[in-house]
Amino acid sequence: MSIQNLDDLFLHTLKDIYFAEKQIIKALPTMAEKAAAPELSAAFDAHLSETELHVDRLEQVFELIGEQPQGEACPAIEAIIQESEELTSEIEDENTMDAALIAAAQAVEHYEITRYGTLISWAGELGLDDAAEILRETLDEEEEADRKLSVLGESRINASAMNEVE
Ligand code: FE
Ligand code: ZN
Ligand code: FE
Repeated sequence: MSIQNLDDLFLHTLKDIYFAEKQIIKALPTMAEKAAAPELSAAFDAHLSETELHVDRLEQVFELIGEQPQGEACPAIEAIIQESEELTSEIEDENTMDAALIAAAQAVEHYEITRYGTLISWAGELGLDDAAEILRETLDEEEEADRKLSVLGESRINASAMNEVE
């Protein structure tokens, strides 16, 4: 009822990802702590700084459309984070832990990628070209973070294969 048109839907989705980014900021330090491989831990720390930038950019977009920055509960991101916390609480083995953390982090990145992709196309449709450009910067970083996690996943697999040979 409160969402009557694409402008409303755009604003709703902006609030959704704003909430999600803030949840991710809360989750990343724990993930960095749990990671066994120093490179994975460093990647989480680096993405934390990027994520703070994502929040800033969203605030710029709110401003561009004349709205106050405000979050709206996003059950999807809460569930992804909660699932990862439950799963990792059951894991002791370091290599298995890193596999679980990479999988969870990639689920988060993919969630963000789908949201930003949608927001960018709607911004285009609504003639919000400046907003689209700002959101595109973040999307590029989310995609890069996802690629980096894939590389870290590969090096984890290679390292564990080496351990088996020893
Ligand atoms: Fe983000
Ligand atoms: Zn949501
Ligand atoms: Fe991200």
